Amino acid sequence: MFVKSVMFYICVITGICGAYSSSYAKHPIKPALKLYVFDCGMLTFPTVDMFSINNDETDVRELIVPCYIIEHEKGRLLWDGGLPSSIADHEGYDEAGQRLDKTFAEQIKPLGLTMASFDYVAFSHMHYDHVGVANEVTGATLLIQKPEYEAAFADTITIEFFQPELYNNLKNEKVQVIEGGHDVFGDGSVQIVSAYGHTPGHQVLFLDLPKYGPLVLSGDLYHFRISRREKRVPQFNFDAAQTLKAMDKVEKFVKDKKAIFWIEHDFAGFKALKVAPEFYE
Ligand SMILES: [Zn+2]
Repeated sequence: MFVKSVMFYICVITGICGAYSSSYAKHPIKPALKLYVFDCGMLTFPTVDMFSINNDETDVRELIVPCYIIEHEKGRLLWDGGLPSSIADHEGYDEAGQRLDKTFAEQIKPLGLTMASFDYVAFSHMHYDHVGVANEVTGATLLIQKPEYEAAFADTITIEFFQPELYNNLKNEKVQVIEGGHDVFGDGSVQIVSAYGHTPGHQVLFLDLPKYGPLVLSGDLYHFRISRREKRVPQFNFDAAQTLKAMDKVEKFVKDKKAIFWIEHDFAGFKALKVAPEFYE
């Protein structure tokens, strides 16, 4: 009450009260938000034709597999879970072309975090290279699209690269099934955007970082830069027509938001990023 009276008094004598409050309403202070990036593995391929790319169209044969932690004043979200932690037992690339130098659980220790430190966990999709740590997460709420949930937790798994033994524990955790867009913390700063097609319920993530700016994390909407440029749909996608629609939808979203777009698997792009303990805000 005292503060209000003082503010009123200042308004009366300066006349800037109205200007102050209307500009505040149009540009509310953005909530504190931090994004941490982690190396959660690498994949290497002798050929890229499974991505509908000719081998002479790109010389990229390695993909990074990142994980991300989003810190919001109302909670902590894990986005994508990398390769299975057991791959770290092998030094360098294994015979399947996968490597993991340090488990995610080890990497988050210096931040004072454990696998029980997350309020929410969301995967762009349930392929094995995105849910590697899923079974290690405890006490978080899983945010998952309805068609992805139905396919991933079905009695019979029909989707290629779904490995329920990596994520089945999540069935016993809190699960929030969503359909379409989802505003994680209710203030628009962290939004899940449905982009079906790569898998039945694939999704991407929008972050409105106060300093870095609006950012979209691609999930596997694209794997390579050429995939985005030429709208190439991998041969192993669940639904090609749905994927093309999702590409159009996300590209429009990115344009409307004037967002930066990170292709998650893009190793060259990743090498230019700050990784934890550094962060984006
Ligand atoms: Zn992937």
